[in-house]
Amino acid sequence: MQKVSFVIEEAVAAIIRAPLVTPFRIATGQHDELANVFLRLRTTDGVCGYGEAAVATHITGETVAATLANLQAAAAALRGRGIDDPEEACREFAARFEGNHSGLAALEMALLDISSRMQGIPLYRLFAPAAAKENVLSFATDITIVIGSLDEARAAARQFTDQGFTVFKIKVGLDEELDLKRVLAVREIAPASGLILDANMGFSAGRMLAFLDRLDRHGARPLLLEQPVPKQDWDGLAAITAALAGSGTLVCADESVGSLADARRAIDNGAVSAINIKSMKSALLESAGIARLAASRGMPLMLGAMMESALSITASAHLAAGLGCFDFMDLDTTFFIRGELARSPYLDGSGRFDLQGAGPGIGVEPEFP
Ligand SMILES: [Mg+2]
Repeated sequence: MQKVSFVIEEAVAAIIRAPLVTPFRIATGQHDELANVFLRLRTTDGVCGYGEAAVATHITGETVAATLANLQAAAAALRGRGIDDPEEACREFAARFEGNHSGLAALEMALLDISSRMQGIPLYRLFAPAAAKENVLSFATDITIVIGSLDEARAAARQFTDQGFTVFKIKVGLDEELDLKRVLAVREIAPASGLILDANMGFSAGRMLAFLDRLDRHGARPLLLEQPVPKQDWDGLAAITAALAGSGTLVCADESVGSLADARRAIDNGAVSAINIKSMKSALLESAGIARLAASRGMPLMLGAMMESALSITASAHLAAGLGCFDFMDLDTTFFIRGELARSPYLDGSGRFDLQGAGPGIGVEPEFP
């Protein structure tokens, strides 16, 4: 990354809320609203950079209160501070965000937003393509069918099919009999669409394989199965991965892989056949590191998100565009948010991102209270 010098004059961290279209329900809990911690940095030249921490307490154990406190402390340390190398500053501040990677993600986002704005380039150009890859500036996200009733699954599948989505990620793991009906209903409504299942740790290895057998008998085979078993159950992951080798279904770690060390373990042990990377699990720079490692080992990758607004989702889209190594895009949370925070200039109503012709920085400037 290019070094750019600037002085931070103003730094503000604040909670910003937005209502959801529908509760975002998964096997381990749910979001009823978006309540994220945002960071705005302004340089003495008047250049602003924005960051967002999407706190998913039921997934990561982080809290909004601790994230706000960490970002306020970082903001206080940054006021009046000269930065000569934004990437180095990100690494320096990482130690202040132990166990709070969403907070670190917000800080990195804001510093890299400023860095790319000052260079007059879109954020994605800060990230060189991963091994033997090129920038990928246009791609579509999947869309999530959250845990709910059969009628809710049907209605969502119809609505999103009409909007133009072609890959459905169905949350499962709370009620197997209902899950089976929901998956088959989505298949019936969108027979040509790609199918992804995310169990959010809701199964054992044996039950997961039995569930997939039942789906298989109905001709429903997912392209990818995300986190079937608890995050520490590496043996269970490996058993499912071995059983599904060559089946056309990838087994993807999400909750099990938060760091570069986790990713190395998952790859070295052959425990999974894909990894879901999220800036809120690993922050931006470590996410890029995980992506480079996995890409160099030929491992397929998903880029995912927590309950993030357009700012953070668009930052992730830049990460994907720059690295060019993601096979599955799961950046759909703005479709669950109402109002201004759902709007990205690079994302259309069918879930397609297009960063060709993108302006400087991330390109999203949320309104602060
Ligand atoms: Mg997941």
